[in-house]
Amino acid sequence: MPQPGSPDHPLRVAIVGAGPAGFYAADALLKAHGQNVTIDFYDRLPTPFGLVRFGVAPDHQKIKSVTKLFDRILARPNVRFFGNVGLGRDVSVADLRRFYHQILYSVGAQTDRKLNIPGIDLQGSHAATEFVAWYNGHPEFRDRHFDLSAERVAVIGVGNVAMDVARILAKSHDELAVTDIADHALEALAQSKVREIVVLGRRGPAQAAFTPPEIKELGELEVADVRVLPEEMELDPLSAAQLEQSPDKATLRKLEILREYAARQPSGKPRTLTIRFLVSPVELIGDESGRVKAMRLVRNELYATAAGTLRPRPTEEYETLPVDLVFRSIGYRGLPIPGVPFNESWGVILNDSGRVLDEESGQPRVGEYTAGWIKRGPSGVIGTNKPDAVATVKHMLADLEAGKVLEPSHTSDAAIEAFLRERQPHIFSYEDWKRLDEMEVARGQEQGRPRVKFTSVEEMLATLGR
Ligand code: NAP
Repeated sequence: MPQPGSPDHPLRVAIVGAGPAGFYAADALLKAHGQNVTIDFYDRLPTPFGLVRFGVAPDHQKIKSVTKLFDRILARPNVRFFGNVGLGRDVSVADLRRFYHQILYSVGAQTDRKLNIPGIDLQGSHAATEFVAWYNGHPEFRDRHFDLSAERVAVIGVGNVAMDVARILAKSHDELAVTDIADHALEALAQSKVREIVVLGRRGPAQAAFTPPEIKELGELEVADVRVLPEEMELDPLSAAQLEQSPDKATLRKLEILREYAARQPSGKPRTLTIRFLVSPVELIGDESGRVKAMRLVRNELYATAAGTLRPRPTEEYETLPVDLVFRSIGYRGLPIPGVPFNESWGVILNDSGRVLDEESGQPRVGEYTAGWIKRGPSGVIGTNKPDAVATVKHMLADLEAGKVLEPSHTSDAAIEAFLRERQPHIFSYEDWKRLDEMEVARGQEQGRPRVKFTSVEEMLATLGR
C-alpha cells in the first residue's frame, strides 16, 4: 500500500462537525497538503457552520463573516459536505474507519452545564443554550416554548452567552427585525411582556466572564435602561489587591463601563436590565401549578484558593427575587460520541493535545483526533479555535509522516457516498447548502434582513424539491 498523501493516493480525512474548529483544521490540512488530501465534512444538521449559525447572536452579524473563509473551503474540489448525517445516529466510528485514514471529531459542546439547586426543573426554568438555539433557528429547538408573558426574568451567570440572552430579551421588535433571528422567535419576542431582566454573577465585577464590547452594548439599548447597584461595584479587598498587582486591561475596562452604569439614573425606558454581583441562586420557588415565581439568593463573599483564584462562598445573608422565567447560563458541556473515549468529569473527548487516547492503555488511538470545544471545553471566541485546530493538525501530519494512519478498506469518493446514501437518503451536499443559502439571503433582502433562515429539515427538503 503506498503512503497516503499523493495525488493518486490522497490522504482521506473525515471531519465530524462542520463548525469553526472543523473548518480551521481543514484549512490547515489543505495548506499543508493541497490536492493530496480529500476532506469529507459530516454534520448531523443539514446546514454547515455550527455555532456560527446557531450560537452567535443574530444581532452580531460581523462575527458571522468568518463563514466566507469556511465557504471557500467547502467550495474546493477535494472537499465535500455530508449534511444531515449524524455520527452515532446514521453512521458509526467503525463505519468511518472503513473509509478514512484519519478522523477528526470537532462536534462542539452540545448541551449545558447543570445547576443542581432545588426547583431547577420547575416550569419556566430553562437552559440558556436552548433559548439561544431556539432564537437562532436550530431545527431541534424550533418547537421549544418559552413563556414570554413573563414580566421578570433572571439569567444566571455573567458570561457572554448570558449577555446575549439578556440583550435579545431587552431589545425591541424593531431592533430584532433587522437581524437573522428565526422568524418564530421574532414573532414570539414581539409579544414579549418582559420588563425586568436581572443577570446574576456569583463573583464580583472584577471576575465577570463577559468581555468589554458585550457589556458596552448593554448601555446602548433602545428600550432598556441598564442598571448596576453601586454597592455591588465596591471592590472587596482581595479583588482590589489582585487588580493592583496585575492590572489587567480588559478587567479595568469592564470595571470602568460598569461604574458608569452604576452612576446612571434610569431614563424611564420600558425595560430594565440589571447586572448583579456576588449572589448565587440557592433555590427556585414555584407556585401551586409548578411554575417558577421566585428565586432565593444568597450573598457571597470571595476567598483566595491556594492557586490564588478568587472563588465565591455563601454568607448568611439571603434575599428573595420575584421571577417568572429563569435562564441558567453557566456554560456549555460536551456530549460523548458512541465509541469515542470520553472524560466524563470534564465533558470532553479523552485526548492529549488533540490525539484521542485509548481509555485503557492511555495511548493515542491511531487515526483519531479532536479539535475545538469537544477537545478543550467550552471556552474562548470563534478565533480561539484556529490555534487549537492547527495544534491538532500538527499531530495529524506528524503521525502521517510516521505512517501511523488507519488502513481503510474502501478509498473511493463514490464508495463513501453510496454507503452514506444507503444509511441516510436525505444527505445535504454543499450544492444543496448553496441553494438554501441563496434562498435565505433572497428572502432576507425582501425584508431588509441579512437572511430569513429555514428552520426545519422538512422545509429545507421541500425547498430543494425533494
Ligand atoms: P462562560 O464564559 O464560561 O461563563 C459562564 C458563567 O457562568 C460565568 O459567569 C460563571 O461564573 C458562571 N457560573 C458557572 N457555574 C456557576 C454556578 N454554579 N452558579 C452561578 N454561576 C455560575 O460561558 P458562556 O457564557 O457559556 O460562554 C462560552 C464561551 O463562548 C466563552 O468563552 C464566551 O466568551 C464565548 N462567547 C463569546 C461571545 C462573543 O464573543 N460575543 C458570545 C457568546 C459566547 P464563574 O466565573 O464564577 O465561574
